[in-house]
Amino acid sequence: MRGLMQTLPLNIAWILRRAERLQAKKTVATRTHEGTAVATYGQVCERTRKLVTALREIGVRPGDRVATFSWNHQQHLECYLGVPCMGAVLHTLNIRLFEKDLVFIVEHAEDKVVVVDKSLWPVWEKVAARVRCVQATIVVPDAPGPAPPGTLDYEELIAARSPVRELPEVDENEAAALCYTSGTTGNPKGVLYSHRSNYLHSLALTMADAIGISESDRVLPIVPLFHANAWGLPYACLLTGAELVFPGRHMSPQSLLECLRERRPSLAAGVPSVWTSLLEPLKQEKERGPLSLRAILCGGSAVPPALQKAYESEVGVPIVQAWGMTETSPLASLCCPLAAHRERGPEALDALRTSQGRVVPGVEIRLVGDDGKEAAWDGRSQGEIQVRGPWIASSYYKEDAREKFQDGWLRTGDVASIDGDGYMRIADRTKDLVKSGGEWISSVALEGLIMSHPSVAEAAVIGVPHPKWDERPLACVVPRPDARGRLTREEILDFLRPKVAKWWLPDDVVFLDEVPKTSVGKFDKKVLRERFKNHALPEK
Ligand code: AMP
Repeated sequence: MRGLMQTLPLNIAWILRRAERLQAKKTVATRTHEGTAVATYGQVCERTRKLVTALREIGVRPGDRVATFSWNHQQHLECYLGVPCMGAVLHTLNIRLFEKDLVFIVEHAEDKVVVVDKSLWPVWEKVAARVRCVQATIVVPDAPGPAPPGTLDYEELIAARSPVRELPEVDENEAAALCYTSGTTGNPKGVLYSHRSNYLHSLALTMADAIGISESDRVLPIVPLFHANAWGLPYACLLTGAELVFPGRHMSPQSLLECLRERRPSLAAGVPSVWTSLLEPLKQEKERGPLSLRAILCGGSAVPPALQKAYESEVGVPIVQAWGMTETSPLASLCCPLAAHRERGPEALDALRTSQGRVVPGVEIRLVGDDGKEAAWDGRSQGEIQVRGPWIASSYYKEDAREKFQDGWLRTGDVASIDGDGYMRIADRTKDLVKSGGEWISSVALEGLIMSHPSVAEAAVIGVPHPKWDERPLACVVPRPDARGRLTREEILDFLRPKVAKWWLPDDVVFLDEVPKTSVGKFDKKVLRERFKNHALPEK
């Protein structure tokens, strides 16, 4: 027997309508070259409706891809709303990709219109010269001077249009947004979010046992709007009435600090490398008085336990670790303690620092061992994490990737264990595990330990070829500024010796000025592996 409830499509128009009706007075603030621009959600929604009129006049039709090549700002938020609401697909381009990848992605997606920041024009211009599909370019004036010839000025376009009143009732399973994975192997892959998946994913961010975004929050997404839906934050804020603060293109630690001071957000989100670079400035800031932040949402790669500890004890702000992928919208799991952890005391709470948490309601998880069978949730057995749920991708856009999507589950490529409470600990990405003599060594665990050394700022561990063991771990270490030239290989190895099994001990340590980062700020181990592929490991 079928239920008798209404079946209105869960689409982005719900978010728009709710924001303009119930959260009209709430604000989005953007740091610009002229200071901070503040607009209400009411104004944002009205401008969004004008944007829809403008895009229709340009020729955008349902299903067309409209790309953004932008920093985090109010106009980007308007695209987040307007493009899906008119039935078109918002394609968020990663502004830090190589030109050749951008060309591939724009052509693969067949982007018809691109909204690009003036400050990024010199980068975009080169891509534009190599693609054929783009029919119109709209420039957001985030830097002084006129819009480049042959382009449309975003503000002029909006000012001259009247707001569309009737929006189509877009089917919830239609595509709303497109985001390409950073593509560590092969060409980048397109993940095509639906209205339904984005709507439900936004709700997950409002759950109390997740990050619990609520009307009383003010959220600073440092994570780019082009990195996997900005982790769902824009829509969750518009839905709940939480306010937004965008840093624009002003992303230096000093600018972010000013942003925190001026707008006093209650929640901020970014990858671990952002929080590493902000640790010292925030420690100093804390001396001047407590910070406004109630929590920091951090994910994208493993959060070093020492970093979490430092934020808790020295900055006074807890880091909430989340795990996910572009393919999972991205929020899939999040680490919040259970009541039972609190009862078990400080050690149980401490142990959570190495955990990526439990899957949020709406996502199911299984652990699959090498033998293809489900592994036990005993905190020790390791296997590949596989997930399914209404905001998990079922395939890639225009790409046959059957090996990645099996019997309704997404194979994440992440190796982990899960404990009896359902808390998962990522050991590594399959390709980052160090395979030594047929056994696995977790680079993530080694990095976490090395980064707890007081003289270490960053550490990445990679496998380098070894004639006997296949691969052996090499630790690439960035000393803190006051330890440069002083920290030694022996000191790192002595520090690790009592903490790890003998065969886990890296064969060598190299010192770097900086760990190379990917376009979204993660350690770029591909670059390190290439750089050190011929590294001569010392004889043991
Ligand atoms: P991307 O789709 O580029 O965001 O990359 C997703 C991958 O980032 C995942 O498959 C994980 O390998 C890694 N990742 C994301 N969050 C975490 C986390 N909290 N801890 C460890 N790895 C993570």
